[in-house]
Amino acid sequence: MKIHFLGTAASEGIPNPFCSCEHCQQARIYKGKDLRTHSSVIIDDELLIDIAPEFSQQLLRDELDATKIKSLLFTHTHPDHFNVGELFSRMEGYGFNITHPLQIYGNDLAINGAVGVLPGYSAERFGFHCLIPFVTVETCGYRITPLLANHAKWELCYTWFIEKEGQTIFYGHDSGWFPELTWQWLEGKKIDLTVLECTYGFNGDNRTNNHMSLETVFSARDRLAELGCLPKKSKIIVSHISHSGGLLHDKLVEECNKENILVAWDGLELSIN
Ligand SMILES: [Zn+2]
Ligand SMILES: [Zn+2]
Ligand SMILES: [Zn+2]
Repeated sequence: MKIHFLGTAASEGIPNPFCSCEHCQQARIYKGKDLRTHSSVIIDDELLIDIAPEFSQQLLRDELDATKIKSLLFTHTHPDHFNVGELFSRMEGYGFNITHPLQIYGNDLAINGAVGVLPGYSAERFGFHCLIPFVTVETCGYRITPLLANHAKWELCYTWFIEKEGQTIFYGHDSGWFPELTWQWLEGKKIDLTVLECTYGFNGDNRTNNHMSLETVFSARDRLAELGCLPKKSKIIVSHISHSGGLLHDKLVEECNKENILVAWDGLELSIN
């Protein structure tokens, strides 16, 4: 599998347009990897996770074709991940020469939210699948399992365990320290690539709720190792990065290098082998 990071920022983006903190000011000057759009990834150019507010621009920037996307997984319905209005452009009469339906997976809020903006949709254009945590389904050659996150108070947010041809990706955010049921499910599962978030930067707490700090990321790595999830070639990468973490890209890379953890940036492609 190949994972392509369309966006790597937390909910404010970097820079946050409404912020003049030092981090945002420096990002405006340095640009490059310090400019981050909202978090979303695409796997093998055909399986999309979340739709960021900058979706169209992300695809244009990286020369990707949205008509090739076959499946869409939603982690949850916070607006930085759930720019569901974009889907209207795939409706009949709006998007042309589309030859397959887009299969959409998520929790009940996500599926209801998506259906709600697509009145009168046709089955040739969209299929909807409201998933139950820990129940695996198949989509276009991928086995996908929603695992519970520890994120919003009134929504069962999902992280995604994705398997194809013996390779596995665990897309583990948005989430704080995972709920015990998720740890239990992960026990003994080999993960080739784990994507975690580090929204809080360093904050002195290694068991954060809602989002992960870097200390929580390091502890999660240790817990995954204890559970036998990290074979030798396994990689961990952080995304969903916030200006409030206070670490510009190079500094974050320096800190994560010490822990053998990678840092995502907008446009990064990683192949698993
Ligand atoms: Zn988010
Ligand atoms: Zn800022
Ligand atoms: Zn969120």
